[in-house]
Amino acid sequence: MLKIKFTKAKSLAKKPSFDNLKFGKVNTDYMLLADYKLGKWTNHRIVPFANLSIHPFSTVLHYGAEIFEGLKAYRTNKDDVQLFRLDENGKRFNESANRICLPEISSSDWQQMILEFVKVEKDWVPNVDGASLYLRPFMFANEEALGVHPPSNATFCLVASPVASYYSGGLKPVDILVETNDVRAVKGGTGNTKFGGNYAASLRASKLANEKGFAQVLWLDGIKRQYIEEVGAMNIAFVIDDVVVTPSLNGSILSGITRKSCIEILKSLNIKVEERPITIDEVIAAIKNGTLKECFGTGTAAVIAPVGSLNHNGSSYKINNSEIGNITKKLYDTLTGIQYGKIKDSFNWIVKI
Ligand SMILES: *Cc1c(COP(=O)(O)O)cnc(C)c1O
Repeated sequence: MLKIKFTKAKSLAKKPSFDNLKFGKVNTDYMLLADYKLGKWTNHRIVPFANLSIHPFSTVLHYGAEIFEGLKAYRTNKDDVQLFRLDENGKRFNESANRICLPEISSSDWQQMILEFVKVEKDWVPNVDGASLYLRPFMFANEEALGVHPPSNATFCLVASPVASYYSGGLKPVDILVETNDVRAVKGGTGNTKFGGNYAASLRASKLANEKGFAQVLWLDGIKRQYIEEVGAMNIAFVIDDVVVTPSLNGSILSGITRKSCIEILKSLNIKVEERPITIDEVIAAIKNGTLKECFGTGTAAVIAPVGSLNHNGSSYKINNSEIGNITKKLYDTLTGIQYGKIKDSFNWIVKI
Protein backbone atom coordinates (compact mmCIF):
# COMPACT_ATOMS: atom_id res chain seq x y z
CA MET A 1 0.00 0.00 0.00
CA LEU A 2 1.10 3.53 -0.77
CA LYS A 3 1.25 6.13 1.96
CA ILE A 4 -0.72 9.11 0.72
CA LYS A 5 -0.24 12.12 2.96
CA PHE A 6 -3.36 14.20 3.55
CA THR A 7 -3.28 17.94 4.21
CA LYS A 8 -6.63 19.26 5.33
CA ALA A 9 -7.95 22.46 3.73
CA LYS A 10 -8.60 25.41 6.05
CA SER A 11 -12.10 25.68 4.69
CA LEU A 12 -14.14 23.90 2.04
CA ALA A 13 -15.77 25.58 -0.96
CA LYS A 14 -19.52 26.00 -1.09
CA LYS A 15 -20.84 23.37 -3.51
CA PRO A 16 -22.39 24.79 -6.70
CA SER A 17 -25.86 23.82 -7.79
CA PHE A 18 -25.33 20.45 -9.48
CA ASP A 19 -28.25 21.11 -11.84
CA ASN A 20 -26.50 23.69 -13.89
CA LEU A 21 -22.85 22.82 -14.52
CA LYS A 22 -20.65 23.70 -17.50
CA PHE A 23 -18.13 20.98 -18.35
CA GLY A 24 -14.85 21.29 -16.47
CA LYS A 25 -15.31 24.75 -14.94
CA VAL A 26 -15.59 23.98 -11.23
CA ASN A 27 -12.79 22.34 -9.25
CA THR A 28 -13.23 20.38 -6.03
CA ASP A 29 -11.44 21.17 -2.74
CA TYR A 30 -8.42 18.92 -3.19
CA MET A 31 -5.95 17.49 -5.70
CA LEU A 32 -3.60 14.54 -5.52
CA LEU A 33 0.05 14.95 -6.47
CA ALA A 34 3.07 12.65 -6.79
CA ASP A 35 6.63 13.26 -8.01
CA TYR A 36 8.78 10.95 -10.11
CA LYS A 37 12.46 11.34 -9.23
CA LEU A 38 15.55 9.12 -9.38
CA GLY A 39 13.61 6.26 -10.92
CA LYS A 40 10.64 6.13 -8.59
CA TRP A 41 7.36 7.70 -7.58
CA THR A 42 7.53 9.58 -4.27
CA ASN A 43 5.72 12.09 -2.11
CA HIS A 44 2.12 11.02 -2.83
CA ARG A 45 -0.11 13.62 -1.26
CA ILE A 46 -3.67 14.92 -1.25
CA VAL A 47 -3.51 18.67 -0.74
CA PRO A 48 -5.88 21.64 -1.04
CA PHE A 49 -6.47 22.52 -4.70
CA ALA A 50 -4.01 25.25 -5.73
CA ASN A 51 -1.95 26.52 -8.63
CA LEU A 52 1.11 24.46 -9.52
CA SER A 53 4.48 26.10 -9.51
CA ILE A 54 6.83 24.94 -12.27
CA HIS A 55 10.26 25.96 -13.51
CA PRO A 56 10.13 27.90 -16.81
CA PHE A 57 12.54 25.32 -18.30
CA SER A 58 10.12 22.48 -17.44
CA THR A 59 9.96 19.96 -20.30
CA VAL A 60 6.18 20.10 -20.67
CA LEU A 61 6.21 23.83 -21.44
CA HIS A 62 8.57 23.34 -24.39
CA TYR A 63 7.92 19.89 -25.83
CA GLY A 64 4.36 19.24 -24.72
CA ALA A 65 5.09 15.98 -22.91
CA GLU A 66 1.72 15.48 -21.23
CA ILE A 67 -0.80 12.64 -21.07
CA PHE A 68 -4.18 12.35 -19.36
CA GLU A 69 -7.14 10.12 -18.61
CA GLY A 70 -10.84 10.79 -18.11
CA LEU A 71 -13.21 8.79 -15.93
CA LYS A 72 -16.19 9.45 -13.70
CA ALA A 73 -17.49 8.73 -10.22
CA TYR A 74 -21.25 8.11 -10.13
CA ARG A 75 -23.74 8.32 -7.29
CA THR A 76 -26.45 5.65 -7.26
CA ASN A 77 -29.96 6.18 -5.93
CA LYS A 78 -28.91 4.11 -2.89
CA ASP A 79 -26.30 6.84 -2.31
CA ASP A 80 -23.32 4.61 -3.12
CA VAL A 81 -20.43 6.22 -4.97
CA GLN A 82 -18.92 4.06 -7.67
CA LEU A 83 -16.42 3.97 -10.53
CA PHE A 84 -16.55 2.22 -13.90
CA ARG A 85 -13.64 0.05 -15.14
CA LEU A 86 -10.92 2.23 -13.57
CA ASP A 87 -8.32 -0.51 -14.08
CA GLU A 88 -8.80 -0.03 -17.84
CA ASN A 89 -8.00 3.68 -17.51
CA GLY A 90 -4.86 2.73 -15.57
CA LYS A 91 -3.67 0.37 -18.31
CA ARG A 92 -4.27 2.98 -20.96
CA PHE A 93 -2.52 5.67 -18.92
CA ASN A 94 0.59 3.47 -18.93
CA GLU A 95 0.33 2.90 -22.68
CA SER A 96 0.17 6.66 -23.16
CA ALA A 97 3.09 7.18 -20.76
CA ASN A 98 5.18 4.62 -22.57
CA ARG A 99 4.68 6.26 -25.95
CA ILE A 100 6.23 9.55 -24.85
CA CYS A 101 8.84 8.15 -22.42
CA LEU A 102 7.04 9.05 -19.20
CA PRO A 103 7.16 6.64 -16.24
CA GLU A 104 4.42 4.08 -15.60
CA ILE A 105 2.25 3.76 -12.50
CA SER A 106 1.50 0.32 -11.04
CA SER A 107 -2.07 -0.88 -11.24
CA SER A 108 -2.37 -1.08 -7.44
CA ASP A 109 -1.03 2.48 -6.93
CA TRP A 110 -3.39 3.73 -9.65
CA GLN A 111 -6.45 2.18 -8.03
CA GLN A 112 -5.45 3.29 -4.54
CA MET A 113 -4.79 6.90 -5.57
CA ILE A 114 -8.10 7.23 -7.38
CA LEU A 115 -10.16 5.50 -4.69
CA GLU A 116 -8.60 7.44 -1.81
CA PHE A 117 -9.06 10.73 -3.65
CA VAL A 118 -12.71 10.03 -4.48
CA LYS A 119 -13.33 9.05 -0.86
CA VAL A 120 -12.03 12.47 0.24
CA GLU A 121 -14.15 14.26 -2.40
CA LYS A 122 -17.22 12.03 -2.08
CA ASP A 123 -19.55 14.94 -1.32
CA TRP A 124 -18.70 16.41 -4.71
CA VAL A 125 -20.29 13.48 -6.56
CA PRO A 126 -23.62 14.96 -7.69
CA ASN A 127 -26.91 13.31 -6.77
CA VAL A 128 -28.55 14.61 -9.94
CA ASP A 129 -29.64 12.28 -12.73
CA GLY A 130 -26.94 11.93 -15.40
CA ALA A 131 -24.46 14.11 -13.50
CA SER A 132 -21.15 12.77 -12.16
CA LEU A 133 -17.78 13.75 -10.75
CA TYR A 134 -15.37 13.84 -13.70
CA LEU A 135 -11.88 12.70 -12.71
CA ARG A 136 -8.86 13.92 -14.62
CA PRO A 137 -5.58 12.17 -13.85
CA PHE A 138 -2.66 13.63 -15.82
CA MET A 139 1.13 13.45 -15.94
CA PHE A 140 3.76 15.71 -17.40
CA ALA A 141 7.51 15.65 -17.93
CA ASN A 142 9.00 18.09 -15.46
CA GLU A 143 12.75 18.19 -15.95
CA GLU A 144 14.29 21.58 -15.24
CA ALA A 145 16.42 21.63 -18.39
CA LEU A 146 15.89 22.61 -22.03
CA GLY A 147 17.46 19.54 -23.69
CA VAL A 148 15.24 17.28 -25.79
CA HIS A 149 15.57 13.84 -24.24
CA PRO A 150 13.52 11.38 -22.22
CA PRO A 151 12.74 13.13 -18.93
CA SER A 152 13.97 11.81 -15.59
CA ASN A 153 11.45 13.86 -13.59
CA ALA A 154 7.70 13.84 -13.93
CA THR A 155 4.66 15.05 -11.99
CA PHE A 156 1.40 13.15 -11.57
CA CYS A 157 -1.72 15.09 -10.66
CA LEU A 158 -5.35 14.09 -10.15
CA VAL A 159 -8.08 16.74 -10.18
CA ALA A 160 -11.86 16.51 -10.35
CA SER A 161 -14.82 18.52 -11.56
CA PRO A 162 -18.55 17.91 -11.07
CA VAL A 163 -20.25 17.67 -14.47
CA ALA A 164 -23.86 17.64 -15.65
CA SER A 165 -25.26 15.06 -17.99
CA TYR A 166 -24.00 15.71 -21.51
CA TYR A 167 -27.65 15.63 -22.54
CA SER A 168 -29.47 18.21 -20.45
CA GLY A 169 -32.01 18.49 -23.28
CA GLY A 170 -32.22 14.71 -23.86
CA LEU A 171 -30.21 12.42 -26.14
CA LYS A 172 -30.12 14.35 -29.39
CA PRO A 173 -28.52 13.32 -32.72
CA VAL A 174 -25.75 15.64 -33.92
CA ASP A 175 -24.65 16.78 -37.38
CA ILE A 176 -21.11 15.83 -38.35
CA LEU A 177 -18.75 17.18 -41.00
CA VAL A 178 -16.41 14.70 -42.71
CA GLU A 179 -12.96 16.31 -42.40
CA THR A 180 -10.99 16.15 -45.63
CA ASN A 181 -8.11 18.52 -44.86
CA ASP A 182 -6.61 17.97 -41.40
CA VAL A 183 -5.90 14.52 -39.99
CA ARG A 184 -6.04 13.61 -36.32
CA ALA A 185 -3.46 10.84 -36.24
CA VAL A 186 -1.37 8.43 -38.29
CA LYS A 187 -0.18 4.91 -37.65
CA GLY A 188 3.07 5.08 -35.71
CA GLY A 189 2.14 8.47 -34.29
CA THR A 190 0.41 9.19 -30.97
CA GLY A 191 -3.28 8.91 -31.94
CA ASN A 192 -3.76 5.68 -29.98
CA THR A 193 -2.76 7.43 -26.75
CA LYS A 194 -4.25 10.25 -24.69
CA PHE A 195 -1.31 12.52 -25.42
CA GLY A 196 -2.18 16.22 -24.94
CA GLY A 197 -0.77 17.33 -28.29
CA ASN A 198 -3.31 15.22 -30.19
CA TYR A 199 -6.09 17.42 -28.89
CA ALA A 200 -4.33 20.70 -29.67
CA ALA A 201 -3.80 19.47 -33.23
CA SER A 202 -7.48 18.59 -33.65
CA LEU A 203 -8.83 22.00 -32.64
CA ARG A 204 -8.59 23.81 -35.96
CA ALA A 205 -10.81 21.31 -37.77
CA SER A 206 -13.45 21.28 -35.04
CA LYS A 207 -13.40 25.08 -34.81
CA LEU A 208 -14.07 25.41 -38.55
CA ALA A 209 -16.76 22.71 -38.37
CA ASN A 210 -18.46 24.50 -35.44
CA GLU A 211 -18.45 27.74 -37.42
CA LYS A 212 -20.34 25.94 -40.21
CA GLY A 213 -22.91 24.64 -37.73
CA PHE A 214 -21.58 21.10 -37.20
CA ALA A 215 -21.13 19.59 -33.77
CA GLN A 216 -17.91 17.77 -34.64
CA VAL A 217 -15.78 16.31 -37.40
CA LEU A 218 -15.45 12.77 -38.66
CA TRP A 219 -11.76 11.92 -38.95
CA LEU A 220 -10.43 9.93 -41.90
CA ASP A 221 -7.10 8.13 -42.11
CA GLY A 222 -4.03 10.19 -42.98
CA ILE A 223 -2.86 8.21 -46.04
CA LYS A 224 -5.78 7.15 -48.24
CA ARG A 225 -8.18 9.71 -46.75
CA GLN A 226 -10.82 7.00 -47.02
CA TYR A 227 -10.87 4.92 -43.87
CA ILE A 228 -13.02 6.16 -41.01
CA GLU A 229 -11.19 6.60 -37.71
CA GLU A 230 -13.08 8.55 -35.04
CA VAL A 231 -15.67 11.28 -34.50
CA GLY A 232 -14.30 14.27 -32.55
CA ALA A 233 -12.65 12.69 -29.50
CA MET A 234 -14.95 9.68 -29.56
CA ASN A 235 -14.89 6.29 -31.22
CA ILE A 236 -17.51 5.62 -33.86
CA ALA A 237 -19.80 2.76 -34.87
CA PHE A 238 -22.38 2.13 -37.60
CA VAL A 239 -25.30 -0.25 -37.76
CA ILE A 240 -25.36 -1.71 -41.27
CA ASP A 241 -27.72 -4.59 -42.09
CA ASP A 242 -28.20 -5.26 -38.36
CA VAL A 243 -24.45 -5.66 -37.83
CA VAL A 244 -22.59 -3.13 -35.69
CA VAL A 245 -19.43 -2.12 -37.55
CA THR A 246 -16.65 -0.16 -35.85
CA PRO A 247 -13.19 0.64 -37.22
CA SER A 248 -10.59 -1.84 -35.98
CA LEU A 249 -7.86 -0.52 -33.67
CA ASN A 250 -5.26 0.03 -36.35
CA GLY A 251 -2.68 2.04 -34.41
CA SER A 252 -4.08 5.51 -35.03
CA ILE A 253 -7.39 5.04 -33.21
CA LEU A 254 -7.76 5.53 -29.45
CA SER A 255 -8.86 2.35 -27.74
CA GLY A 256 -11.96 3.63 -25.94
CA ILE A 257 -13.27 1.91 -22.84
CA THR A 258 -16.82 2.85 -23.84
CA ARG A 259 -16.17 1.29 -27.28
CA LYS A 260 -14.87 -1.88 -25.68
CA SER A 261 -17.82 -2.01 -23.25
CA CYS A 262 -20.32 -1.54 -26.11
CA ILE A 263 -18.77 -4.47 -27.97
CA GLU A 264 -19.09 -6.64 -24.87
CA ILE A 265 -22.71 -5.58 -24.28
CA LEU A 266 -23.64 -6.18 -27.94
CA LYS A 267 -22.06 -9.63 -27.92
CA SER A 268 -23.97 -10.50 -24.74
CA LEU A 269 -27.18 -9.53 -26.59
CA ASN A 270 -26.21 -11.72 -29.56
CA ILE A 271 -25.94 -8.69 -31.81
CA LYS A 272 -23.21 -9.17 -34.40
CA VAL A 273 -20.20 -6.84 -34.15
CA GLU A 274 -17.47 -6.39 -36.74
CA GLU A 275 -14.22 -4.59 -35.97
CA ARG A 276 -12.85 -3.90 -39.42
CA PRO A 277 -11.65 -1.11 -41.70
CA ILE A 278 -14.59 0.85 -43.12
CA THR A 279 -14.38 3.59 -45.73
CA ILE A 280 -16.40 6.78 -46.07
CA ASP A 281 -17.46 5.57 -49.55
CA GLU A 282 -18.93 2.39 -48.05
CA VAL A 283 -20.78 4.43 -45.43
CA ILE A 284 -22.24 6.91 -47.93
CA ALA A 285 -23.29 4.05 -50.25
CA ALA A 286 -24.97 2.27 -47.31
CA ILE A 287 -26.83 5.44 -46.33
CA LYS A 288 -27.98 5.85 -49.94
CA ASN A 289 -29.21 2.27 -50.31
CA GLY A 290 -30.91 2.29 -46.92
CA THR A 291 -28.84 -0.45 -45.23
CA LEU A 292 -27.14 1.94 -42.80
CA LYS A 293 -29.61 2.37 -39.98
CA GLU A 294 -27.69 3.96 -37.12
CA CYS A 295 -24.44 5.74 -36.36
CA PHE A 296 -23.10 6.79 -32.97
CA GLY A 297 -19.99 7.97 -31.16
CA THR A 298 -18.80 6.43 -27.88
CA GLY A 299 -16.79 8.00 -25.06
CA THR A 300 -16.82 8.63 -21.31
CA ALA A 301 -18.01 12.25 -21.49
CA ALA A 302 -21.18 11.75 -23.57
CA VAL A 303 -21.40 7.93 -23.19
CA ILE A 304 -23.19 7.53 -26.55
CA ALA A 305 -23.63 10.33 -29.09
CA PRO A 306 -26.11 9.55 -31.87
CA VAL A 307 -25.14 10.96 -35.29
CA GLY A 308 -28.04 12.51 -37.20
CA SER A 309 -26.25 13.36 -40.43
CA LEU A 310 -22.90 13.27 -42.18
CA ASN A 311 -21.80 16.04 -44.50
CA HIS A 312 -19.24 14.93 -47.08
CA ASN A 313 -17.80 17.17 -49.79
CA GLY A 314 -20.75 19.55 -49.60
CA SER A 315 -23.51 16.91 -49.63
CA SER A 316 -25.55 16.11 -46.55
CA TYR A 317 -26.69 12.56 -45.77
CA LYS A 318 -29.34 12.00 -43.12
CA ILE A 319 -29.12 8.90 -40.95
CA ASN A 320 -32.29 7.26 -39.60
CA ASN A 321 -34.17 10.48 -40.34
CA SER A 322 -32.02 12.13 -37.61
CA GLU A 323 -33.67 10.01 -34.94
CA ILE A 324 -32.09 7.81 -32.30
CA GLY A 325 -31.92 4.17 -33.34
CA ASN A 326 -32.80 1.14 -31.19
CA ILE A 327 -29.27 -0.16 -30.76
CA THR A 328 -27.96 3.32 -29.94
CA LYS A 329 -30.65 3.75 -27.28
CA LYS A 330 -30.14 0.25 -25.87
CA LEU A 331 -26.40 0.86 -25.44
CA TYR A 332 -26.96 4.24 -23.79
CA ASP A 333 -29.52 2.80 -21.36
CA THR A 334 -27.39 -0.25 -20.54
CA LEU A 335 -24.16 1.68 -19.94
CA THR A 336 -25.74 4.45 -17.88
CA GLY A 337 -27.89 1.85 -16.09
CA ILE A 338 -24.77 -0.01 -14.95
CA GLN A 339 -22.85 3.19 -14.13
CA TYR A 340 -25.64 4.59 -11.95
CA GLY A 341 -26.45 1.23 -10.36
CA LYS A 342 -29.94 1.03 -11.91
CA ILE A 343 -29.29 -2.32 -13.55
CA LYS A 344 -27.25 -5.32 -12.49
CA ASP A 345 -23.55 -5.19 -13.36
CA SER A 346 -23.25 -8.67 -14.81
CA PHE A 347 -19.89 -7.71 -16.36
CA ASN A 348 -18.14 -6.86 -13.09
CA TRP A 349 -17.23 -3.36 -14.24
CA ILE A 350 -18.17 -1.43 -11.11
CA VAL A 351 -15.89 -0.60 -8.20
CA LYS A 352 -17.62 0.87 -5.17
CA ILE A 353 -15.96 3.43 -2.91
C1 LIG B 1 -10.83 9.38 -24.64
C2 LIG B 1 -11.06 9.21 -26.10
C3 LIG B 1 -12.01 8.32 -26.62
C4 LIG B 1 -13.00 7.59 -25.76
O1 LIG B 1 -12.42 6.78 -24.80
P1 LIG B 1 -13.29 6.32 -23.54
O2 LIG B 1 -12.37 5.43 -22.80
O3 LIG B 1 -14.46 5.59 -24.08
O4 LIG B 1 -13.66 7.53 -22.80
C5 LIG B 1 -12.08 8.16 -27.99
N1 LIG B 1 -11.27 8.86 -28.81
C6 LIG B 1 -10.36 9.73 -28.35
C7 LIG B 1 -9.51 10.45 -29.32
C8 LIG B 1 -10.23 9.93 -26.99
O5 LIG B 1 -9.35 10.82 -26.53
